[in-house]
Amino acid sequence: MKDIFKSIEAYRLWEKEEPRSPEDKASFIADRIDVSDRDLNAFITLDREAFSRKAKAAFSPERRKSPLGGVPVAVKSNICVEGELTTCASRMLEGFRPPYNATVIEKLDHEGAFVISGANMDEFAFGSSCETSAYGPSRNPWDEDRIPGGSSGGSAVAVSSGQVVCALGSDTGGSIRQPASLCGVVGFKPTYGRVSRYGLIAFASSLDQIGPLARNVTDCATLLKAISGYDEKDSTSVNIEVPDYCASLGMDIKGMKVGMPSEYFQEGIDGDVQERLREAVKALEELGAEILEVSLPHTRYAVSCYYIIGPAEASSNLGRYDGVHYGYRDEEARDMIDMYVRSRTEGFGDEAKRRIILGTYALSSGYYEAYYLKALKVRTCIAEDFRKAFEVCDAIVTPTSPTTAFRIGEKSNDPLKMYLSDIFTIPANLAGIPAVSIPCGLGDNGMPVGMQLMAAPFAEEKLIRIAHAFERNTGFHELKPGTIED
Ligand code: GLN
Repeated sequence: MKDIFKSIEAYRLWEKEEPRSPEDKASFIADRIDVSDRDLNAFITLDREAFSRKAKAAFSPERRKSPLGGVPVAVKSNICVEGELTTCASRMLEGFRPPYNATVIEKLDHEGAFVISGANMDEFAFGSSCETSAYGPSRNPWDEDRIPGGSSGGSAVAVSSGQVVCALGSDTGGSIRQPASLCGVVGFKPTYGRVSRYGLIAFASSLDQIGPLARNVTDCATLLKAISGYDEKDSTSVNIEVPDYCASLGMDIKGMKVGMPSEYFQEGIDGDVQERLREAVKALEELGAEILEVSLPHTRYAVSCYYIIGPAEASSNLGRYDGVHYGYRDEEARDMIDMYVRSRTEGFGDEAKRRIILGTYALSSGYYEAYYLKALKVRTCIAEDFRKAFEVCDAIVTPTSPTTAFRIGEKSNDPLKMYLSDIFTIPANLAGIPAVSIPCGLGDNGMPVGMQLMAAPFAEEKLIRIAHAFERNTGFHELKPGTIED
């Protein structure tokens, strides 16, 4: 496939060189996705009817003036798009067409973006491999026998395979950054409260954030700017001004302080990932950043803490899918209780059930104090570690994931192993801070490695500045899967 969608800039060039009517453009994009998606399964469904319905508005000449005008943006299937299938990759929401748009979709529409709904994901965003989707796993375009990461796997695949220019995902414990890392693209989790969650189907409401994925930092910054900002429909969105993220592009990073947490560079990381990270840190140093050691001592409790708080909130949020209020209903049930049991048994997959059981247990009387309350206290300690670290540094650097993409099926029967994939990404969600993953080379198996940068709340600009300086000087974002031609 020709690499005409590798950036907004490349897309604009293609538009100019090969002019098409709005309808033709929409079917060109749909055909391109269709062909490569037979192997990749980045999209659960491709709504061709929605493509032609939206083409005229999105591809009109005056839309082109807006930075995102006409740009194809894939949207994870847990973000509500009015009238288009939004299933969370679950049988439970089979056939669900939301009657309204998420705020981020309204914002993208306002910018004239060409929204493509239905990107595949782990069911209800539970997972790190995209294998828990009820509609089959997505495959990594770098090696189709490997997972793309998750839960925003479909979004990362659509971007890295060149099906779309950029995408939206959601990140509760790493679901934007980890698949971005494993597919060799940029993925950004904003500060909790920076982007409205209205219309994002909830997993864990105190952790969830929507964010962008793209092939480069510039496009990520453009998309982030478009979706950020206060929204009265989300009481946790924060009413402070949105800076012009694109203004941080191209700035140097001389004198910026980047912390390396000793706790994140220890055992459990693959040798090649560790090596790429050391080289990346060296590159940052050569660009003028000052590297210092910082300590985040409570990080070692982050995964345990997350797997109490995340499932606790998930079990509450998923209570509404009972076949009456929302969701799939078994039609053969004998009575009301039987209907609840059958509907939830058939509607949810194994991982969703595991989370519901874990969460309900942690919240039950007698265990609430021992588990849930304790986890909340640990969460405060983790956030406090970061607060102290950011008194002495502008950003913190770590690997995004301890390994490169693993093989499909390799960890699906071992939840603990799977949960450890997010060991480096979970702390940022617990602390509510912004974090980005950017490509930093390839592992021994030829699969992408990602570097994670984290910053203090609402310091997204610093991340963009450092990430862009790194990208410009290393060029790792230019690496791409073999299936994409130049
Ligand atoms: N992999 C993590 C989990 O399964 C994170 C998922 C996410 O961020 N949505 O909970």
